[in-house]
Amino acid sequence: MRLRDKVILITGAGSGIGKCTALLFAKEGASIIVNDLNVESGTNTVAEISEANGEAYFIQADVTDASSVKAMVDKAINRYGKIDVLFNNAGISGVGKLHEVDLDAWNKTLNVNINGVMLPSKYVIPHMMEQNKGSIINMSSCIAEMGLADRASYSTTKGAILALTKSMQVDYAAYNIRVNAILPGTILTPFVEHYLKQSYENPEEAIEKIKTRQLSGDLGRPEDVAYAALFLASDESRFMMGSPLYIDGGVVFG
Ligand code: NAD
Repeated sequence: MRLRDKVILITGAGSGIGKCTALLFAKEGASIIVNDLNVESGTNTVAEISEANGEAYFIQADVTDASSVKAMVDKAINRYGKIDVLFNNAGISGVGKLHEVDLDAWNKTLNVNINGVMLPSKYVIPHMMEQNKGSIINMSSCIAEMGLADRASYSTTKGAILALTKSMQVDYAAYNIRVNAILPGTILTPFVEHYLKQSYENPEEAIEKIKTRQLSGDLGRPEDVAYAALFLASDESRFMMGSPLYIDGGVVFG
């Protein structure tokens, strides 16, 4: 088991990539703190892990709310005594060209996707510093480097996460804390299904178009990202620091 005895906090683990990663990490021997805003989906993830004889505990928290994030981290420490790995996965979409975007919608995307990485990190890092060890995985996206149409707010947030990852890595390397980022291409999850419905009259046609953007000729699956996260969470990646890890099926730039 590649994650035996590790305690891992995954934000947004009620759905999609976060859920798939939680199930995989539990199979690899980790105790999972499942976070989500949505109580029903977070509870379902824990139930599935328990059915497979894994260890998991759900803590509802909004990653944009400092007091609720602090309470989540305190609860996790009370229960397990440590957090070895933090996977900052929770995120939302954001569509539209800059001049069309409503300021509230813009701020919401920035709040969840940037503050939602900053706040869990802020409260978990002191515990990792005390342990003198930790791995933080930040969810970026290949969109950070692609310039896709109609995604101004979302691209901004995922680019910011790359910069934040490097900055965090420099600040905490001395405490044996590694901070890396994952950059997925298009992975078929509820998040993408929602985006397609929001943005296209014919989502099936849109999927075919997206496939042509990835050299793989197909969309990714949540487990493609979960296996990358597994590597970053495990000590096998001990020499990776502040790095972007692309899981994008060979995205065609431009
Ligand atoms: P998803 O919508 O299936 O899951 C996201 C989860 O985050 C949901 O369960 C949601 O309830 C939770 N969440 C949202 N806001 C929250 C908040 N404020 N506090 C706590 N939880 C919250 O999405 P997904 O496709 O699995 O995406 C996960 C991450 O991967 C996101 O950061 C997304 O930007 C990123 N990503 C996804 C893709 C893709 O193609 N699916 C590509 C690149 C990056």
